[in-house]
Amino acid sequence: MYDLIIVGAGPAGMTAALYALRANKKVLILEAKSYGGQILLASNIENYPAIKEISGYDYSKNLYDQIKALGVEYKNEIVLKVDSDKTVTTNDNTYQGKAVILATGASSRKLGLKNEDILTGKGVSYCATCDGNFFKNKIVAVNGGGNTAIGDALYLSNIAKKVYLIHRRDDFRADKKSIKELKAKENIEIMTNRIIAKLNGTKKLDSITIVDNDGEQDTDIVVDALFIAIGQEPKNTIFTNVAEIDENGYFISEDGVHTKTPNIYIAGDARQKVLRQLTTAVSDGSIAAVVAIKEMSE
Ligand code: NAP
Repeated sequence: MYDLIIVGAGPAGMTAALYALRANKKVLILEAKSYGGQILLASNIENYPAIKEISGYDYSKNLYDQIKALGVEYKNEIVLKVDSDKTVTTNDNTYQGKAVILATGASSRKLGLKNEDILTGKGVSYCATCDGNFFKNKIVAVNGGGNTAIGDALYLSNIAKKVYLIHRRDDFRADKKSIKELKAKENIEIMTNRIIAKLNGTKKLDSITIVDNDGEQDTDIVVDALFIAIGQEPKNTIFTNVAEIDENGYFISEDGVHTKTPNIYIAGDARQKVLRQLTTAVSDGSIAAVVAIKEMSE
């Protein structure tokens, strides 16, 4: 029996583990992929208080090492079901907890194009920091207008010969400082009001077809890689027996912590919230853990 089972080892889940472990609780953290979650994809974090600059990888590794040193049990398993009695079923095992925190985050949004799945790993990528190095001195494109896309374009501009930044509007969501840096880079070509209509290639990505917002003016751009950075989507439908979700799949909670089920809580990007950032994810994780600990002993 665990005091706390945490589903998801992103910043929210790992911070929840940190707080529970420091309160001397027995903690299991279950993660389907690799620890770090979406922040692992961030090439550079510059807005985390008191840390001037850190890569998403280093941040994730530091936090993981911190909770490992405190004795967390970490298992790479896929959670299939959470029951209201706090039983958690994975692809491998069944675990019993006194409390459960759902910190499931979100996954990279796909463009939904015909060859997208086939070409993933063959020129199409959702992680510039993971795959960027394969494209030294090559021509690459990044799609998106948020902090991830602009960060990716800047990161790749130091590796690739040329970077196209393709965005569907002419206004960016990314912060002004990053936009300024983007515009100053000589090997980045910014293409706004453009949509990627086709991914061309069979064995690998050869080119992309972009169209303007009116769906006119097809242009083929020869690229070695396309980095898709168009935001994230939650995947919470398997938890609707214990927690409410909205029409976009985000957990709904009046106070941002509790679900409709006693001793099952939510934290991080997976929930409805105003701001999805590292700072708010770790805040959620710490609050959920403290509330869970308090309520499990009541
Ligand atoms: P985001 O801010 O949601 O931006 C997604 C971008 O993709 C938007 O520009 C959006 O265009 C575009 N987009 C969405 N769907 C699309 C589609 N189907 N086709 C084409 N374009 C599409 O996502 P994000 O950049 O991943 O960032 C997520 C959160 O993490 C944000 O709060 C961000 O600030 C934060 N973050 C922080 C850092 C950092 O601090 N270093 C790094 C990365 C991310 P529209 O603008 O037209 O909707």
